[in-house]
Amino acid sequence: MQRFTARAVVVGDRAGTVVPDAVLDVDDGLISWVGPAADAPSAADAEVTALPGVLTPGMVNTHSHAPMVLFRGQGEGLPLDRWLTEVMWPREARLTPEDVEVAMTAASAEMLRHGVTTSVEMYFHPDRMAAAVHRTGARAVITHPVIGLPGFGSFDEQLARAVEGGRGDEVVEYGIGPHSAYTVPLPVLTAAAEVARAHDLLLTVHVAETVAEGAELLATHGLSVPALLASHDVLGGRVLGAHCVHMDDGDLELWREYDVAVAHCPGSNTKLASGTARLRDMLDLGIRVGMGTDGPASNDNLDLFEDLRLAAQLARLRERDATALTAAEAFWLATGGAAAAIGREDLGQLVAGRRADLVHVDTEDIAFVPVGDVTDLLTHLVWSVGSRHVRDTWVGGRRVVADGASTTVDEAELRADVQVRAMRLAGR
Ligand SMILES: [Zn+2]
Repeated sequence: MQRFTARAVVVGDRAGTVVPDAVLDVDDGLISWVGPAADAPSAADAEVTALPGVLTPGMVNTHSHAPMVLFRGQGEGLPLDRWLTEVMWPREARLTPEDVEVAMTAASAEMLRHGVTTSVEMYFHPDRMAAAVHRTGARAVITHPVIGLPGFGSFDEQLARAVEGGRGDEVVEYGIGPHSAYTVPLPVLTAAAEVARAHDLLLTVHVAETVAEGAELLATHGLSVPALLASHDVLGGRVLGAHCVHMDDGDLELWREYDVAVAHCPGSNTKLASGTARLRDMLDLGIRVGMGTDGPASNDNLDLFEDLRLAAQLARLRERDATALTAAEAFWLATGGAAAAIGREDLGQLVAGRRADLVHVDTEDIAFVPVGDVTDLLTHLVWSVGSRHVRDTWVGGRRVVADGASTTVDEAELRADVQVRAMRLAGR
């Protein structure tokens, strides 16, 4: 058994529970006990790790295309259509499976260093992405892409591959990721949803990210994107809509009715000027929401600390109300709330029975002063602290980041490799 002692444990629940002077026990990769040190069971044979800072749940990034670290910052300042046609697509056309694996390894190590232990991925070559995650020691939900591009086979073949991939294991869960209603034919989306429901796979799809996408589909079909998905039997089961920025009351009502979850990506939505999602309204309706970074070419980082803070800032600004999203709720959206959004109740909170995905945040910093009540630690985590304060990360009780550096991969080597590959993909 492993025992961790910490200044405090931030549970990652909606109420923002913080346990001061805490003990957390891990048995076989799972949390077996959490609580105040004074109440801890005896553990004479435990291997004890005494942490001076706070222990938080590993964050869950609900929407990512992490291998796009290869394209970070490229095409800066271009409008979306030119960015896609002149910068992204020519590069992606040259991508090899090995590029994806190297980039995913680098990105996964970066996420672990930022305290993100699980990410939901939608990108090419899912098997190579899984290999990368196995190397870094992270977890992922890797969705098989469904998209009409040369070289990826027919839609039927792509759906068949998603089924053959199975559910995965405790490290990598597989899902299915049809890109969107504006890039994938509606009958294919219907078939993908059938496959997902039949095999209990997470289905993730971009929804109502931009005004233009919705206007075009509305003109063609007379329905909003959410209504179109509902009418084509895409909703129901484990469905996660990425972005969901342009949603009217009826759309939100559909999400509530079908229990569709939302991957909220304010970093991407602000950078690409997509809009501000109705986060408060979603939460008030009981819609499950988790934070996402989106791809590192449209954020441009994989740092959920920044996104959760931005979520709180934008929710408050949108509602003109400083109570529109509390610090506790913001942190929950990247931890317990995010785990619930992807239907993974084994992740996201530091409570007995869940997986021991842990992050140690250094509190010996002026950003953590003052602390009157212990809940100030959570307030500081959201408002004044960032991923730069993450010291150590464990996944299933295994330390994968120690004192700010990966214990599993050589980050300098990966950085150099990504640079060379990125230049080749850019045609330079
Ligand atoms: Zn995306």
